[in-house]
Order: sequence, then structure tokens, then C-alpha cells
Amino acid sequence: MFSYTKIFTGLISAIALSAGVSVCAASEQEFSSMQMKNVEKVEVKVDLDGAAKRLSKAVTFKTISNQDRNDFDAKAFTDYHAYLEKSYPKVHAKLKKEVLGDPRPYSLLYTWEGTDPTLQPALFYAHQDVVPVPADSRDQWKADPFAGTIKDGYIWGRGSLDDKNQIHAILEAAEMKITEGWQPSRTLYFVFGQDEEVGGPEGARYIADVLEKRGIERFAFVMDESAPITPGIFPGIKENTALIGIAQKGFISLELSINGIGGHSSMPPEESNIGIVAEAITKLEKAQFPYRIHPAVRAQYRYMGPELDKANQPLYSAVAFGKDGEVTPLEQEFIDLMSKNELTRAMIHTTIAVTMFNAGIKDNVLPPTAAAIVNFRPMPGDTPEVIIAHVKKAIADERIEIKDISASTPATNVANAGGPGYKMLEKTIRQTWGNDLIVSPFFVVGGSDSKHFQARSFAPDVYTMTAIQLENTEEFKGFHGVNERILVKEYGRSIGFFYTLFNNLEQLKNK
Ligand SMILES: [Zn+2]
Repeated sequence: MFSYTKIFTGLISAIALSAGVSVCAASEQEFSSMQMKNVEKVEVKVDLDGAAKRLSKAVTFKTISNQDRNDFDAKAFTDYHAYLEKSYPKVHAKLKKEVLGDPRPYSLLYTWEGTDPTLQPALFYAHQDVVPVPADSRDQWKADPFAGTIKDGYIWGRGSLDDKNQIHAILEAAEMKITEGWQPSRTLYFVFGQDEEVGGPEGARYIADVLEKRGIERFAFVMDESAPITPGIFPGIKENTALIGIAQKGFISLELSINGIGGHSSMPPEESNIGIVAEAITKLEKAQFPYRIHPAVRAQYRYMGPELDKANQPLYSAVAFGKDGEVTPLEQEFIDLMSKNELTRAMIHTTIAVTMFNAGIKDNVLPPTAAAIVNFRPMPGDTPEVIIAHVKKAIADERIEIKDISASTPATNVANAGGPGYKMLEKTIRQTWGNDLIVSPFFVVGGSDSKHFQARSFAPDVYTMTAIQLENTEEFKGFHGVNERILVKEYGRSIGFFYTLFNNLEQLKNK
């Protein structure tokens, strides 16, 4: 993660809704605020100067994920690993560190053994890799993106918000706890992936396999990055808001191809291979997956709804309390609104995107093969098998071969909104940033590496948020854009957040 569009894909919905719909039916259930109240703030004393210097130096390691996977700087990663070891000596003395990944091993798995083996473990995820800085955007940076500059109260550079800040905040907090002689009662895993920005096929996916093979049956809690705490992040709510991602869509790409007879263009058959595939694509685009309200969207509106405009309360309430498998007129109204633009539409069905088409090499040769690639972002339940069956039925053409060419991930489990893990997270947010903010679950239409865990049965309760307070939505542009930076004093609070979360985890019971 984390592009501006990725986050807003799931959020624009409120804009569509605040356009105003006339609804009159009153909800039968009480649609009251779900916000936790009167949580006492906890101040954590952090070595802010030292911590800021350590993060700023981390920015200088060019752990870039390029789209061309051959363009990979292995030394940047090994140097960064050595730097982590030097910066957090107690963590490296106390925790078991493994360097994993397939085929290239540059991801980090730390195991902090708990005192009570009967407690289910917890996992903290963050990624080492960063997106490249395009050469033509360099001159817009107010500080070199890889220099690790600290000025005007900020740490500047690529990775300072996405996502080295989380790696370092976690390690700073762990180093502090070890210094105090603290040991967790449940085992804690830290996983720092190498290729999140390109989908995590080598790092996170492999480590999820490793942990599964080691026999972990259930994580009590998993946390990964997503939206930072930001005022006005959710259209329609001006207040400072913390969004906690509770589910992510899946990813699958299919190749639709035909292998037949080519020939000379002077004697063409009635149907060309290109024509056959093109027709299949046309049929598929007409056979859109049906709209439905995802349970994570219901949870989102249960929490967000009461904080949104008064006029549409019955509508939000209908979505929040609706039942899967039936659609009330108010829910239909919601679906109609959401389906009006591609941003919100992605939240209510499995999307179909035709992304590549390959055929032909010469103007007078009929190509023997033609192929199109279609990328799907599935809703829960739309497994690769379901999608392939849907495609077969839609195109109804035996000549077309369908092949799954992706490192596909299914839509994830939906974390329990309002469950003990969620409540612990909301409490920690309020202990760190106070009660003057809205906390809500939300459905992540994009995705980050934790999907590799959350799509499996051992990690249903994955919660995603970036534990940083941004000043405004403008600061978002640093994610994958220019002038990525983090306020030093906010970084300090982020460390305090993880420190407090380690404490709060002690109270979390097994599922
Ligand atoms: Zn990220």
C-alpha cells in the first residue's frame, strides 16, 4: 500500500451518499453511536531524538520495489538488515531472526517467545520495500527522497510514511520493553516483507506458508498498515478519524486465449482468432458480477453511519442492519448510489478489468494465437473456481482456453468489528491520541501484504491501520507521491502506540 486511490476507493461512498437521498422509513433498531468513551490517555516516554535519527537513516537504504523484478538491489536489503541489527541490539539479542523469501530471501521474521505457550500468538506486519521516485518528480521534493533529512520538525523521504515508520516504531517499542525486562506472555511475531509494493509474492506469501507449516492454528491478533489517522479522511465527517481495515478484496488474473490455425490474410476464415477472443471479452464485460453489500461494508456503516449526516440515517441504518441474501428497498437505494461510479462500485461486487490483449505480428499474417488478460478483484465467496465458472458461462465458447496466471489471493476473511481485538485497538488509539476522534472499521478495496495472512483460516482477525496522525488529507500525497514525510513528534506517538499495544495485548484472551 498505499496509494491515494486505494484508500479513497473505499471512502468516496459517503460523497455519493451525502448528495442526499429522500428516505422516510425509520429504522426499527436503534442506530446509536458506537464510539468508545472516556478512555484515559497514556503518555509513553520515548527517546525521540534517537528514534528520529534511526528512522531517518533507514530512509537512506534504497529498498525499492521496481515493476521490473530483475531490477532489484539485494545489497540495499542486506545493508538495511545489518543496520537494523546495529540499531536495535536488544531486539536482536532476545528475538529469533530469520531471513526468508522465495525465491529471493530478503524478508524478516522475528519471533519473540511468550511465557505462556497456551496463548494464541499475535503478529505485526510492515514492509521494507518502497516505491521508486520517478526522475521527473525529483525537483518537486523539498528534501532528497533518500537522504534521510530531518528538518522543520519532519523526517523526510521515501518510506518515512510507507512503511519504514511502522517497522521502526515496532522495533523501538520492543527495544524499550526489553530494556525494562518485559517479556510478552503470548508469542509475538514481527514480519517485515520485501515486496509488498508488488503484491508480496516472494515475501509475505512465503512467510504465511512457513507459519502455517509450523502449525500455528490461530492468531489472536494481526496488525498491518492501511489508512493513517486523518481529519476529514472519510467524506462527510470533518472530525479526526481512525479507520481500521477489517477485510480486503482478492486478486486473480485469467488469460483467455485461443490456439488455432493461422494463415494468410488473403484467404481469411469467417472468424479470426482475434475476433473470437474479442467477442469473448465483449460478452464477459456484459456479464458483470452481481452487486451485494459486503459484511465489512455493513460493519463500516454501523460505525460510520451515526456520525454521518442526519438526513440519511435510515439509509445507513438499513445497510448496517441488513441481512445477507435479501435486499430491502433502502439497501437497493444504497446499491444504486454506490454503482454510479467506478470507485464505489468496486466495493459492492467482484470487478472485471481487461488489462492486456496480445495477438499478431504482421499485417498480412493471421495470428495462430490470440490472448487477453483479465484482472478480477473478487468479493468473498468468489473463489477462482467461481470466477472461472462465471467466465465460461458468460463467453460460452469452447474454443477459448482459460488459465489462471496470477499469484491469486482470495478475498480475505472479515475481521470481527467490535470484537476483542478491535476493541483493544480502539482503546490503544484513544490512549495514544485521545477521545476526540472517530474510530470505525472499513472495507479495503485495495490491499496490502496482510491479505496473505487474512485469506487463510489461521488469521481471520487482521486489523489494518497506519499508526500515525496526519495533519490533513493533503499529507496523504506523500504516499507514493512527492514530499513523503512524517512529523517527528507524531512518530514518537506512534512508538508509544505500539508500546501501549504490547501492554494491552496481555489482556487479550484466546478465541
Ligand atoms: Zn505500504
